[in-house]
Amino acid sequence: MISEIKKVGIIGAGQMGNGIAHVCALSGYDVVLNDLDKNNLDKGMATIQGNLARQVSKGAISDSEKNKALDLIKPSLALDDMGGVDLVIEAATEHEETKRKIFQAVIPVLHPDAMIASNTSSISITRLAAATDRAEQFIGIHFMNPVPVMKLIELVRGIATDENTFVTSKKFADSLGKTVAVSEDFPAFMVNRILLPMINEAIYTLYEGVGNVESIDTAMRLGANHPMGPLQLADFIGLDTCLSIMQVLYEGLADSKYRPCPLLVKYVEAGWLGRKAKRGFYDYRGEEPVPTR
Ligand code: NAD
Repeated sequence: MISEIKKVGIIGAGQMGNGIAHVCALSGYDVVLNDLDKNNLDKGMATIQGNLARQVSKGAISDSEKNKALDLIKPSLALDDMGGVDLVIEAATEHEETKRKIFQAVIPVLHPDAMIASNTSSISITRLAAATDRAEQFIGIHFMNPVPVMKLIELVRGIATDENTFVTSKKFADSLGKTVAVSEDFPAFMVNRILLPMINEAIYTLYEGVGNVESIDTAMRLGANHPMGPLQLADFIGLDTCLSIMQVLYEGLADSKYRPCPLLVKYVEAGWLGRKAKRGFYDYRGEEPVPTR
């Protein structure tokens, strides 16, 4: 039984995985950061370096803290590197089959006591846990984007998650300087259950021609005092991730009020996935983002 995490393995070095590696290393954990795509792994490591350097320039951390954190992160292209970790955090693409395959592939190299967490935004922790050999040691540790900035972690217990896994995960989250909100394991948990229908409704508002991208975002920034407009936020999250979450809500709660907007589907089909693809509701290829509708 593991009661203290020392070494963390992160699978997926995209927007979330590299942020999770960043905060874990800054808190002194040994980190293995894995991705199957070398380009994405290199990009993830470069992002960490850039974000740590920004923290140094703002005076939030010292140069030696930055270097120490970078030394603690081992980039990896093979799941064999996960052998010695106490906790695996899966932060790969929001696709259930992908996540199941990752668990099947990593389990044989893990210590039997090692815990597994998923950073999924919406998929059932109970169902993911059942696809592993250790449902008792499986939990949802849901970080927010951007991880180094956002204070919240949603902790999600599956039906089989044991008390030690919950308590150890809570200690781990606290040690990263984050605040925990505990959610029951229902589709999209708490934050995205509330946030994504609002984003989807903003996309319907655009689809039905009630407003254009700029007016919808301005309306919600200045009219509801949101720091970002909903379409800007959708681009930031990733439109593929937004669509997956809406599909999980729609299927998991069997209520038509969650049906994904056809315009969201169209943007994803076009590969206009938001900031990470340089195009979404805004075009990010120039100096300033330009609305695409
Ligand atoms: P992303 O597209 O930026 O990154 C996903 C990464 O996973 C890619 O680099 C991809 O190469 C990698 N990957 C895919 N299959 C893999 C495999 N078999 N082995 C190793 N790596 C693999 O996505 P993201 O935004 O970082 O989201 C990752 C997870 O975090 C998703 O489950 C998502 O729902 C969740 N999440 C996202 C946000 C957000 O705002 N984007 C917030 C909280 C949680």
